[in-house]
Order: sequence, then structure tokens, then C-alpha cells
Amino acid sequence: MGKGQWAIAVQGGAGDIPIDLPKHIKEGRESALRHCLHIGSSALNHSHSSLHVVELVVRELENNPLFNAGRGSVLTTEGTIEMEASIMDGKTKKCGSVCGLKTVVNPISLARLVMEKTPHVYLGFEGAEAFAREQQGVATLEPCDFITPANVERLKQFKESIRVQLDNAHPIQNEVKVEARNADGDSQLGTVGCVAIDLDGHLAAATSTGGVINKWVGRIGDTPIIGSGTYSNTYCAVSATGSGEDIIRGTVARDVAALMEYKGLSLKEAASSVVKNGAPECKFGLVAVSATGEIAMPFGTTGMFRACATQDGYSEVAIH
Ligand code: ASP
Repeated sequence: MGKGQWAIAVQGGAGDIPIDLPKHIKEGRESALRHCLHIGSSALNHSHSSLHVVELVVRELENNPLFNAGRGSVLTTEGTIEMEASIMDGKTKKCGSVCGLKTVVNPISLARLVMEKTPHVYLGFEGAEAFAREQQGVATLEPCDFITPANVERLKQFKESIRVQLDNAHPIQNEVKVEARNADGDSQLGTVGCVAIDLDGHLAAATSTGGVINKWVGRIGDTPIIGSGTYSNTYCAVSATGSGEDIIRGTVARDVAALMEYKGLSLKEAASSVVKNGAPECKFGLVAVSATGEIAMPFGTTGMFRACATQDGYSEVAIH
């Protein structure tokens, strides 16, 4: 595919996704991803910029409580939410990031405002909330409006599973593995992200999340860190998901771009090399699009909610 053809990829979270995922969650997420491909593709067909499209798609997923971002954000150990997001324009390398949000309905749009209306890249916590209040048109809600009964239940069950595992752990074993599934088997993975190349050949990436369940208050993950959860330049656009601490240590999103830039790898080679280097315990995945319209969606987890489409009519929605 040459320059001038659009392409888009979307992710809705990577991790230990059960094969027997409840039907309503599986179908709900698949149809949301399909809807995102539809709105993203039609905006790209209408010559909208990739920056506009990745924001549009991520907003859509933030508004869907089935995903761990915006309204569906998982809870901290204190039962509160702290949302985070970042966006990057590959052509200019301008970017914006936010974290520690408790009231902003669409963190990705606030990240874009940070990029476009401040001299900074990254605003967090009170400063980010104050900036949101000063901007016209930034929708906010009370913090309690983001706390869904499903996520309260997930936190409760998560804490209970830690207690049981600690009780059963060998005394010298200091790492306890836990899964954050609720009663119907869902782990509320679902960080969301979108990457795209538009008809002008410009790339952009956006990622948004509630983070990880039971995270410490004040914990910042990979999602708002440019180069870790999100990156875009003139080679590619990347959005990562999975264990934030691993993604930060591996500077995952930037590494994909660096392998293309410095080693001349194709997008698929670069992306799968970064995921393989995370082995044997690779707990993340990513979606990426290159300047030639190539798409890569590798993951080292059991699954990743993902979807992609290209201008020539190809489209795909997949989980495992
Ligand atoms: N990467 C996110 C974080 O660690 C979580 C995820 O993608 O599921 O905050």
C-alpha cells in the first residue's frame, strides 16, 4: 500500500482473557470495536486527519463502560478512580498527556487540549483537573459517577483473591499472582487505544485507561507516558496495553519506532521483536500502523481485544 491510503487499528486491552468470556461482554466489546472501525474509517474516507480520528475513536471507547477507560475505569485500592491518557501527532511530534483525573468524561480530549493549548506535554492530578475546568466544552461529572457497581464488585473480589492467595502462599514467596476477574469471569481489561494513517500520509496515536485494578493511589502507568504506552513519528504510530510497569521498563512504543528508524525493520518485524523481547513473561500487546499503511497487532498475553481496517476494504475484529 502506498502513501495516500488510510489504515486504522484499535485496541481494547490485552491480558489473560478467558476463552469462555461471557457472551454479553464478548459481543458488546466486539460490536464496540466494529463500530469504532466504522466511524474511524468513514472519518478517514472523508479526509479527516489521523489526529482527529484517533481522538474520536478513543472518546467512543471511553464512553463505553465495557472498557477500562473513562466511564468503565477500574478502581484504585481506595475505591477511587484515576484516569490517564495521551495522544501524539506523528508529523509534528506534538503530544499531550494527562493522569490522575477524577471528573473528566473524555481524558483523551483533555490530553489533546494539553498538547494544543499549553506550553507543556504532561499535566496530572489537581493541575490537570484545574486546566479541565478552565477549558470550554470539557465535560465533567462527579467522581462518584464513574464508579460503576461492576467495578466496585471487581475490586471487592480482587482484594478477596489477594487475601486468599496470601493466606495460602509459602512464607518466603514474596510475589503473589492475582487475577482480577469478577463473578462472571471477566477481568475488566480494556485500556483503549487507536492508531491511524490518514490520506495525507500523517500518523497519530492515542491511548486511554483507568489503569490497573487495586492500583495504589497516585500510581501512574504507561498509558500517559510518551514512548511507553503511546508514540508516533513519521515511521509509525503505536498504542500499547497490558502490564504498565513492563511497558514502561521496555519503552515499548518508542522501541517499535526506533527499530524501524535505526535498523530498517518493517513495522511487523519491529513490533513482534519488541513483544518477543518482553518474553518469556511478556504481559503486553500493541497495535501499530506504519507510514506505508502496514498494520501490526502482536501480543504476548492470551488475548488482546483488537480491530483494524484498511482503505482497500480489509477489516478484522479479534480477541484471542
Ligand atoms: N497499561 C495499563 C496500565 O498499566 C493497563 C492495561 O493496558 O490494561 O495502566
